[in-house]
Amino acid sequence: LRRVRAQWETTLALLKPDLLADAARVRAVEQEIGQQFRVQERRQIAWTRAQAEAFYAEHQGRPFFGRLVGYMTSGPFVALALAGPQAVSQWRKTMGGTRPVQMRVRNPASLRARFGLTDTRNSFHGSDSAETARRELAFLFGDSKLDRNWEHTSPQAG
Ligand code: ADP
Ligand code: MG
Repeated sequence: LRRVRAQWETTLALLKPDLLADAARVRAVEQEIGQQFRVQERRQIAWTRAQAEAFYAEHQGRPFFGRLVGYMTSGPFVALALAGPQAVSQWRKTMGGTRPVQMRVRNPASLRARFGLTDTRNSFHGSDSAETARRELAFLFGDSKLDRNWEHTSPQAG
């Protein structure tokens, strides 16, 4: 029990612009997410090019970077702060791997298999580590008026 408490985390999930275009799908996805995680924050956002480039700075120079930035600035998306035991890896597992077409074979129950369109338009983002999650949560929710300490969000942790 102590170990589980220690691994209570918060991660960043994005419901990307292709998903946002379909309100019924957004509702279905958010209902599933709510059964698995505690949703601490929810915000609908539209990025400028500069914001998208900053968020994805690690991918600058990759062949898909231009498409990725174009996609992420093509319309609004939803950012969620998801909390739970091992939330970082749990959300990555629920979402599935980067490529939706591959996921339809390897992990058909995953969200990207079910909703994703292409390697670029794959409908979801999830932080890839606890450290990335802290940085990304600050990027998306850093101006929140609520007191936030993303490392100590467990109701039991004190
Ligand atoms: P993930 O989102 O699964 O962590 P990455 O961090 O590697 O994947 O890439 C960030 C995003 O860039 C992906 O979610 C996807 O939208 C896009 N992307 C990644 N790889 C490719 C690719 N080979 N072709 C097109 N788009 C890609
Ligand atoms: Mg990534």
